[in-house]
Amino acid sequence: MKAVQYREVGGTPEVVTVPEPEPGPGQVLLKVSAVGLCHSDQFIMGLPAEEFDYPLPLTLGHEGAGTIAQLGEGVQGLSVGDSVAVYGPWGCGRCLQCTQGKENYCVNAEAEGILPPGLGSPGAMAEYMLVNSPRHLVPLGSLDPIQNVSLTDAGLTPYHAIKMSLPKLGAGSTAVVIGTGGLGHVGIQILRALTGATIVALDVSEEKLDLARDVGAHHVLLSNDEAPAAIKKLTDGQGASAVFDFVGAAPTVVIAAASAGTEADISIVGIGGGELPVGFGTTAFDVSVRAPYWGSRSELVEVLELARRGQVNVEVETFSLDEAPEAYQRLHDGTIRGRAVVVPNG
Ligand code: NAD
Ligand code: ZN
Repeated sequence: MKAVQYREVGGTPEVVTVPEPEPGPGQVLLKVSAVGLCHSDQFIMGLPAEEFDYPLPLTLGHEGAGTIAQLGEGVQGLSVGDSVAVYGPWGCGRCLQCTQGKENYCVNAEAEGILPPGLGSPGAMAEYMLVNSPRHLVPLGSLDPIQNVSLTDAGLTPYHAIKMSLPKLGAGSTAVVIGTGGLGHVGIQILRALTGATIVALDVSEEKLDLARDVGAHHVLLSNDEAPAAIKKLTDGQGASAVFDFVGAAPTVVIAAASAGTEADISIVGIGGGELPVGFGTTAFDVSVRAPYWGSRSELVEVLELARRGQVNVEVETFSLDEAPEAYQRLHDGTIRGRAVVVPNG
């Protein structure tokens, strides 16, 4: 079968032919219907050799959906042909976090060498993929897999971050979204669906700000040194109630800190290497700063429910498997509107 792999540090993704996988006991084989491209793929492929600790070659794709092609021995409760989304942050299934459905915070995954698909295990950017447990599948039902595959990360990750800050986001509050690409444009819609907040979106690109406005941001601002003052002005001097930084780079965490009002939450979701010093006087009083990772299985079920009710629509540009390298180049260049999605069996 065809797969898209990152094969050597410093290389670019390549379309290659690999053996079709066979499901072992307890595993599920999916015929991939759609796979999203995430900026995290770009991040990994940009790591120098001394920081790169994934097995190579790496089949990419941690946002996956498919139809069940074959069930491994002992798998029950699923049928061949079911349309499913893959819950990507695989954990051990036994620790406290995993039993709460929060496999994104599994405490044993690293020690046991359990790696998410596309981030260590062979991912969804192939005609077929193996899923190590039926626990990591969520039924899509009638939801279109191409339109909704990115909810498994670009939806789930902002959903998790926003859900933790809901107590701060009642009527009259202000939420700031920094970076309105794949994650950010879904984050804006989740904020509209779940909160009473006025949403201020920041990006460095006018096209991305147009998208932010189209998906429900109340105000848009260029992401620069002047943004915090503009946010203060929009909030009668109060500052934001919560800031979601979907870039997480040195300049954006500075904007996040300067924009956050008293008792605000700052979620640094982007992995752009920015660090925020936290101590008395570095932010407004009692600001909380967190760096969340992905989301729980039940949150994935919830975010799919938002899509089912028409409250979240991912803006999608589709590509064939052969076009995946070009799609990664477009993501790198910042010219994708919303999310790039590859359709391997299209
Ligand atoms: P993307 O490339 O689709 O979007 C990034 C957006 O940020 C673009 O619109 C870009 O124009 C904008 N941007 C760049 N520099 C900016 C700046 N200085 N100020 C404001 N906006 C700026 O990326 P994505 O797939 O949405 O991922 C966003 C980030 O989140 C990446 O760092 C990714 O690795 C990370 N991520 C983290 C998690 C997690 O669990 N924490 C999960 C998925 C992705
Ligand atoms: Zn991702």
